[in-house]
Amino acid sequence: MLEGTVAWPSDVASRYRARGYWRGVSIGDVFEEAAQRHAEREAVIEDAKRVTYRELRTLVNRVALHFAERGICSGRRVIFQLPNSLEAIVAYFACLKVGAIPIACLPAHRQFEIEHLARFTGAFAWLIPATYREFNFISMAEDLREKLPELREIIVTDGACGKNLTSYDDLALDPIEQRRSPAALNALRPRPDFPAVFQLSGGSTGLPKVIPRTHNDYLYNSYLLASQSGFCADGTALIALPMMHNFPLAGGVQPGLLRGARIVLAHKTDPETIANLIESEGVTWLCAVPAMVLNWLNSPAFRHSDLSSLRSLAVGGARLHPEPARRVIGTLGPVLTQVYGMAEGLCCTTRPDDPEEVIIETQGRPISEADEFRIVDERLNEVEPGEIGELITRGPYTIRGYYKAPEHNRTNFTADGFYRTGDMVRLHPSGNLVIEGRNKDLINRGGEKISAEEVENLILSHPAVLSAAVVAMPDPLMGERSCAYVTLRQGGTLDLAQLNRFLEHKGIARFKLPERLEVVASLPVTAVGKISKKDLRDDIKRKLQEEGAGLTRRPSS
Ligand code: AMP
Repeated sequence: MLEGTVAWPSDVASRYRARGYWRGVSIGDVFEEAAQRHAEREAVIEDAKRVTYRELRTLVNRVALHFAERGICSGRRVIFQLPNSLEAIVAYFACLKVGAIPIACLPAHRQFEIEHLARFTGAFAWLIPATYREFNFISMAEDLREKLPELREIIVTDGACGKNLTSYDDLALDPIEQRRSPAALNALRPRPDFPAVFQLSGGSTGLPKVIPRTHNDYLYNSYLLASQSGFCADGTALIALPMMHNFPLAGGVQPGLLRGARIVLAHKTDPETIANLIESEGVTWLCAVPAMVLNWLNSPAFRHSDLSSLRSLAVGGARLHPEPARRVIGTLGPVLTQVYGMAEGLCCTTRPDDPEEVIIETQGRPISEADEFRIVDERLNEVEPGEIGELITRGPYTIRGYYKAPEHNRTNFTADGFYRTGDMVRLHPSGNLVIEGRNKDLINRGGEKISAEEVENLILSHPAVLSAAVVAMPDPLMGERSCAYVTLRQGGTLDLAQLNRFLEHKGIARFKLPERLEVVASLPVTAVGKISKKDLRDDIKRKLQEEGAGLTRRPSS
């Protein structure tokens, strides 16, 4: 056990093993087997780069040997901040082979998130591109390194490398296997009940919480999610979402490469790029968040390309409403799979043999026969069938606790080990779930989760601000966007551009920046004196409706 993680009770663990849900192998071992079996097949395609399983295996073993030589192994934590790339895939499987634990950060994260996660996990290494989307990762890394004494290695995957930085190319191009046999890696194989990866929660309380997923549970999750969402081992998956996010990683990249499929990586999500790749690579499986899908459906590129290879479009991360779901089927044929899931574990999907209306209206049902769920009221009593309540769940791939977070674990898990999802759901007569909302203070911006509290804390540090509350405002494309309400100190002034410059300076990811600012004289409070977010949400909804109807003008802030 890694210190700070919470194990399944031993009788439950024995049952999961006995039933074969946990296979008792590490993900690195399964990758090795698959890479040998499918050696001549194409494995990864990224722009002009195309590698077979044989080539991928050579790269993974080589980088794993280098990692081991540098001490990146045996439970050490590695921040992954790489864009979708062959390098990210190689480094991911290399870590799993030597028992290092990738931390699934996003290229969008900035100093604020990285500093916290690096400190909190005691990260040993950090993988970055030199620049990506015009952001200079090297200068961020150089600034932060001083503050992070436990961080030993910063590995840069492209371009020139600065002082004290390691070039990924120097590792990937150096045939270390001629000096050290890859058999040496066997001694470093992690135990299957050891964390394979640290996913991050889109949690509502301040900074992201860390989700330790074991080799056993993540492997099981991956296989089931892929097969239930229509991903076939002989297929081609297109990964356009950030690949370290749980949905594309557990649903696409990982199961694909463990079963001999082809993985095509995209750097952009615009309709032309996606339609071209589907057509030219014969893509069979694609995962997306609803905002992307809406954008694709509206585009000529999607209407005029040959997308007939596509067998499954898995849509999740945020609610896909019935009207766009109907349009997906109308435009692309019966390819839609709705996916509702979370990095903490539980995944639900609609199934191809569900009636069309069920695929349109619901977000599916759990992928494992061993997933247990209840829909409960505030006192954890089950609601009547068809009524809305919070979904709580436990099972062979849902964590029993966050990493090093005993306080959060007391409130986020029930005494009998159910994870409290915070999602408000309803049981559909078909037995599938419909996601109706959330009771967590979280904004779901097209699948990217923003913790209101995290952003509020930063806004409160602005010298002009007296009090602040961040709420979701409805948005036709993203589902939700964030709106900040503030009151100002006497004489203080603030507009949205000033606020966002200030927040960017604090180093938070851009997707968390408020997209509207409302400066008010006072914030509404509830009977017990807490800020009433419900009133603020109602207020912004009303303002948007009035603006939409042309009754008022959009304020300039
Ligand atoms: P993450 O761990 O970032 O994947 O976020 C998980 C959360 O995203 C869930 O708890 C839900 O709040 C939300 N979510 C995921 N899929 C869906 C979906 N299909 N419909 C509605 N909400 C979703």
